[in-house]
Amino acid sequence: MAFDLDRYRERAERFGEELSREYYRHLAGHKRELEIERIYDSYADLFARDSVMALRDRAATAGDGDRGRRLAYLLHFGFDGLIGLETRAEAAELAGLEASLEVDAGDGALPYRSVVIAQANEADAERRAALEEARNLVLEERLNPIYAAALERGHEICRQFGWPSYAAAYSELRGIDLERLREQTSRFLGDTGEVYSTVVDAQLERARLPGLGELRRSDLPRFFRAPELDELFPAEGLIESFEETLADLGIDLAGQSNVHLDTESRPTKSPRAFCSTPRVPGEIYLVIAPTGGRDDYGALFHEGGHTEHYAHTEADLPFEFRQLGDNSVTESFAFLLEHLTAEPEWLRERLGIDDPAPAVEHSRAFRLVMLRRYSAKLAYELDLHGPSADLGAMRGRYAELLGDAVRVPWPPAGWLADVDDGFYAACYLRAWALETHWRAALEERFGHRWFASAEAGDWLRDLWRRGQRLNADELLAEALGEELDFSWLARSV
Ligand SMILES: [Zn+2]
Repeated sequence: MAFDLDRYRERAERFGEELSREYYRHLAGHKRELEIERIYDSYADLFARDSVMALRDRAATAGDGDRGRRLAYLLHFGFDGLIGLETRAEAAELAGLEASLEVDAGDGALPYRSVVIAQANEADAERRAALEEARNLVLEERLNPIYAAALERGHEICRQFGWPSYAAAYSELRGIDLERLREQTSRFLGDTGEVYSTVVDAQLERARLPGLGELRRSDLPRFFRAPELDELFPAEGLIESFEETLADLGIDLAGQSNVHLDTESRPTKSPRAFCSTPRVPGEIYLVIAPTGGRDDYGALFHEGGHTEHYAHTEADLPFEFRQLGDNSVTESFAFLLEHLTAEPEWLRERLGIDDPAPAVEHSRAFRLVMLRRYSAKLAYELDLHGPSADLGAMRGRYAELLGDAVRVPWPPAGWLADVDDGFYAACYLRAWALETHWRAALEERFGHRWFASAEAGDWLRDLWRRGQRLNADELLAEALGEELDFSWLARSV
């Protein structure tokens, strides 16, 4: 049967709608089960090799205009789905084990997935380390063999499609020169090498944790959790501070009929804020179970950034430009709003904090750790997924690259689990850089208090309505005439 592109587009959009709604219902606690198998089954034709090959043939000759963009985004979607479908047995087994396995540090069992939260809430450094060791043992013995099988399967599929490696496949599918990004982020690591220790050590000292050199990886969740900042970020003020911030930008959250703010508490609701987009811009959920704390504020504003970006996307753009494309773009707007919760002016005005310095400095240190960790992750993933990857050496390579960047001895156990599908780490890295361009432009045009300016809101809405038709580089060139520059990012920290 001949390949019908219009029908493919239509079915791809409906698949995304059903999948996204199912995730929303599960994660928001409306239903216990996550029934995605059935959705994949009824749309399996989208991810059949023939369909993906047909998309690839068409994309190859479609040129650089919107026709080419739409086909490139569809091909990326189809290929992700194909790998997902062909490794779904491993994915299901991993999900089942991660939800059921227990970890015992010698003082009673706790669920595998709750270890990081337990470490964040544990004041005793020795118990945090014991939890880490017990979890890593389970990870190595029970989960890594399954992760390895899925990894090799993914690599094999890329070779069957004629790509020399998984890295080459995703460089092409994402339209991102990943090797160039590795150079940019390794320069970022060099540029921030000195400031990193100064900034992080000062915050570790304030949190009464050991400095770099003695700090262990198991201490990081405790450091990020920052319980001493809790009183500055109360649960009660969370939603209100978000609503008021949007109101200042000229956005009436309660009046947005396409945005469903879900704040109700339900027993199985995800503790972490998320945004779900069954239809863009028509049906968007912003879900939160407010608990307060710095991290909760950051998460709501991050997800709120996605929400507003999607909610303002023009309805008459083709599906590919509303729902697919370069996620560096939507992540940049998520980081932009998230960053407000680390702005001194915003903290003073919105949360009434007299001395915002401790919160600002903690966020700066947290951001530096994340940026350096992701820079190292990208370098590692390029090695792991490269044409000449020696899998036997990758466990050590992971510990070496991550440990050097974060300056904490890094347990090698995560060498397979701490890997994002399809180089999503590249989106985060580009988004962090893009966000510094947006922020500089907003400050230049509307001042340091841009977040309280309706004109800044208009300016942002003009970017948001474009959806993800353009990738991060193209959008930045079109909007500001600039090129993505990681040295701005280094200067911003
Ligand atoms: Zn995000």
